[in-house]
Amino acid sequence: MFLETLNALKHVLWPTRCAACDILLPEPDVLLCGECADSVAPADSLQCPPDIEAACAAFRYDGAVQQMIAKWKYHEDYGAYHALLACLPEQLPRMRKCIAPDACLIPVPPHPRRLRERGFDPVWQFANALQKALNHDGLHTVLRDDVLSRTRHTPHQASLSHDERMHNLDGAFKVADGFSAQNAVLIDDVVTTGATAATCAHALKLAGIPHISFVALAHTEKS
Ligand SMILES: [Zn+2]
Repeated sequence: MFLETLNALKHVLWPTRCAACDILLPEPDVLLCGECADSVAPADSLQCPPDIEAACAAFRYDGAVQQMIAKWKYHEDYGAYHALLACLPEQLPRMRKCIAPDACLIPVPPHPRRLRERGFDPVWQFANALQKALNHDGLHTVLRDDVLSRTRHTPHQASLSHDERMHNLDGAFKVADGFSAQNAVLIDDVVTTGATAATCAHALKLAGIPHISFVALAHTEKS
């Protein structure tokens, strides 16, 4: 009773806002307003880039998902990020189909320059959260952020056409000497054409990794 009163008082003094659109929420203990919660949708099925056996994304990149990702990636708003992660368990059964039980989760590495500017790596953060969620679900994967590295700085993919993207990334990634695994799962935050995943997968294939799949946080229809 006391705790309930305290929580109600807290809500009056510090009202909760929707993690995506910022409107005041009528209830404590919810992270999203009704409209934003309704806009969170599973991603459509992903086309498998070459060298990749299975691919999927958790969410469609629009509505509240797009807002929460922008707040997290560009403004380090971890309230928005955690609200997005709170929607992840519902998508896990579908995502698990792309992830072998003993797989190495390999985040797509950031540009060193972009990492310096931003100060954190959203892809690594998502890979880490995904591994914990899978672990909680009884699937014991390994997170390896020391496998892939960038060989050079590449222009931002968003401004390029599909062909330019592929050319832009030619040989842009290398695999650490001596790395071996039966199953690798590439992880990225937002996937558009899959060009980055395809380039990473090609590097892994050349390094002798037989089975490669790909999991992203969100999929945008933009091309
Ligand atoms: Zn909202």
